[in-house]
Amino acid sequence: MTRRTLTVVALTTAGLVLGLSASGAPATRRAVPVPGSAGMGDSYFPRDGNGGINVLEYDIHDTYRFRTGRLSGWTRLTVRARHDLSRFNLDFLLPVSRVRVDGVAAGVDRPVLHELQVTPATAIAAGRTFVVRVDYAGRPGAASWEGESNWLADAGEVVAMNEPHMAPWWFPSNDHPRDKARMDIRVTVPRARQVIANGERVGRTVRNGMATVRWRAREPMATYIAFFAAGSFAVDRGVSRGLPWYVAASDRIPAARRQVAMDMLRRTPVLVRWLQSQLGDYPFSTTGGVVTSLNSGFALENQTRPTYPGLGRGSTSLMVHELAHQWLGDSVSVQNWRDIWLNEGAATFMEVRYAETHGGQPAHGWLMDRYVGAPADDPFWNLRIGDPGAGQIFDFRVYVRGGMALQALRQRIGNADFWRTMRTWVRGHRNDNGSTREFRAVAERVSGANLAGFFDAWFFSPTKPARTRANGLR
Ligand SMILES: [Zn+2]
Repeated sequence: MTRRTLTVVALTTAGLVLGLSASGAPATRRAVPVPGSAGMGDSYFPRDGNGGINVLEYDIHDTYRFRTGRLSGWTRLTVRARHDLSRFNLDFLLPVSRVRVDGVAAGVDRPVLHELQVTPATAIAAGRTFVVRVDYAGRPGAASWEGESNWLADAGEVVAMNEPHMAPWWFPSNDHPRDKARMDIRVTVPRARQVIANGERVGRTVRNGMATVRWRAREPMATYIAFFAAGSFAVDRGVSRGLPWYVAASDRIPAARRQVAMDMLRRTPVLVRWLQSQLGDYPFSTTGGVVTSLNSGFALENQTRPTYPGLGRGSTSLMVHELAHQWLGDSVSVQNWRDIWLNEGAATFMEVRYAETHGGQPAHGWLMDRYVGAPADDPFWNLRIGDPGAGQIFDFRVYVRGGMALQALRQRIGNADFWRTMRTWVRGHRNDNGSTREFRAVAERVSGANLAGFFDAWFFSPTKPARTRANGLR
């Protein structure tokens, strides 16, 4: 929150300066409204997110037809202007029929597919909250952007799940983790189908053979971890020590396997509790999970409700990974996508920690096996995991070496300071964002150590860290 406020001030000042140079007017004059930029400044994905706006809430109303793969509906965004705005962009891929700002028709342009450019009838003053309604219809399965075709659906099931991009396929958004917002998700499907999304299920209404299911997430979330799944599911729910949980497994999974998946899903509250004992309070008001029959090829940490492409008896580690992301990735999100090791390295480390505390290999041995096992000329070391490049954010080295770096940090600053660092990190950045630089600052503040060399060796060098005490390797 602090950082966001600072940015608003900086942008407003920039607007004032612009106004001055354009008109020569005294500094007390109102700034000249300027367009919000088409991106948020992420070096990996320059068009992600948009300048000048801060979305406070999304009210999504989507209708999905399985037979045609057509998605139609409207989303209402409650937005705060971060500077005097003559126009602003949203990130979206489906055809749009109408945009209204505070109930008044707005101009719409599309300089490129991904950028919906909205020009309100009158400029919007800095700090003002306004409402945008976008009406749309199209086939998300036919939409692709920069090589990504992220719609996952067949004639019987659909799951909106992907990273780092998913929202533009099903609702217009400010698509960058730095702009978190509350989500109210309503999805309408044939009444025989179910809908599962983030947060709490608040209701279901049936009309003309179609059912609208409404889900509401209390805590703000990044756009890419907003999700919905629709189809036929076995469902279970409950409350475990005050924490509501909701789990679902696709009915299309053969009965024996579905039974195992449901057994595993029901372990979610227990795993959340264990993670809580390590990382501090669970950051959200509900938990759960979904097992889809669709072949996603990956599991994803959708906020409050991870989605898995199957869960077997041996999938505990996978669940620990996705649930660890609720703290590390979802509640504390990347500042920029180059910070991805903070998500993936940390979730991998929590898998190792889980093993260590449940009869598996100690984390020290896990680290040293991998350190010794990969010689200096092994490509394993040939990546700066603190800035891996847009095409490598999900490279296995980001995961494994990120996890190794955390265990090395634990060995460098000691167990007590390490866990204090982790808990301070998730508490201090809750429902917010964080960068590698900020993580280092927390570790240094907690431990009193200068970690410049450590961070350089582990995160910003494409080489094997030297086996030194300073690198946490002695
Ligand atoms: Zn992950």
